[in-house]
Amino acid sequence: MGSLQLQSIRKSFGNQDVLKGIDLDVKDGEFVIFVGPSGCGKSTLLRVIAGLEDASYGTVRIDGKEVSAVPPAKRGIAMVFQSYALYPHLTVKDNMGLGLKQAGESKAVIDQRVAKASAMLSLDPYLARRPSEMSGGQRQRVAIGRAIVREPKLFLFDEPLSNLDAALRVQTRLEIAGLHRRLKATMIYVTHDQVEAMTLADKIVVLNAGQVEQVGSPMDLYNKPANLFVAGFIGSPQ
Ligand code: ADP
Ligand code: MG
Repeated sequence: MGSLQLQSIRKSFGNQDVLKGIDLDVKDGEFVIFVGPSGCGKSTLLRVIAGLEDASYGTVRIDGKEVSAVPPAKRGIAMVFQSYALYPHLTVKDNMGLGLKQAGESKAVIDQRVAKASAMLSLDPYLARRPSEMSGGQRQRVAIGRAIVREPKLFLFDEPLSNLDAALRVQTRLEIAGLHRRLKATMIYVTHDQVEAMTLADKIVVLNAGQVEQVGSPMDLYNKPANLFVAGFIGSPQ
């Protein structure tokens, strides 16, 4: 289970209206991509979904349940950032297991889930290393592993590949697509890369200045863009 409904979500910082009434329905297991120019509110929207920011107005529902009173750690959500945000003094294994430890899981459960995730991500040879001894791509896999071990029903990715070079971006994108197939979890993924959007998404949400311009399948948006903004963003290579 991992459906999401956003209803009339608004968010202001001071007198700046960053999100101006977002409505969205995400089905359980869907891969949904948010695209839009820098500053249009993509990260803010993810943070509102995760509970890291409160909406100024509107409702977030996860599996039909309104979550305004549910703290981030209890929403069944795991977030992966562009900057991997790993702890430098902890090994890969401990970085991956830390969230579970803080949640009070037993060592047996932590070990079993870390082993499963590290096998999935080919991280087994690196479990005893520290992040500084790993490449950028490997670090991002650790950050993804740290999300997987929590067995979330909803993954939020905020431009996870943008610090990687072109070859690694392709490889990691394919890995994420494979994880989506295996885990059958709902994934919401922010990118400004057209290829990522077109290849990963079941559904693309085009955002502009805090509003949704269009929602549709990659082919819908490509063939029937609602307006020039969408056509410019999706239709032509960047
Ligand atoms: P995107 O991820 O699409 O690039 P963001 O959601 O990060 O955009 O930011 C949207 C706008 O909201 C930007 O103008 C940014 O400066 C502003 N903003 C984001 N977070 C905060 C904050 N905590 N305080 C004030 N302004 C913010
Ligand atoms: Mg952002």
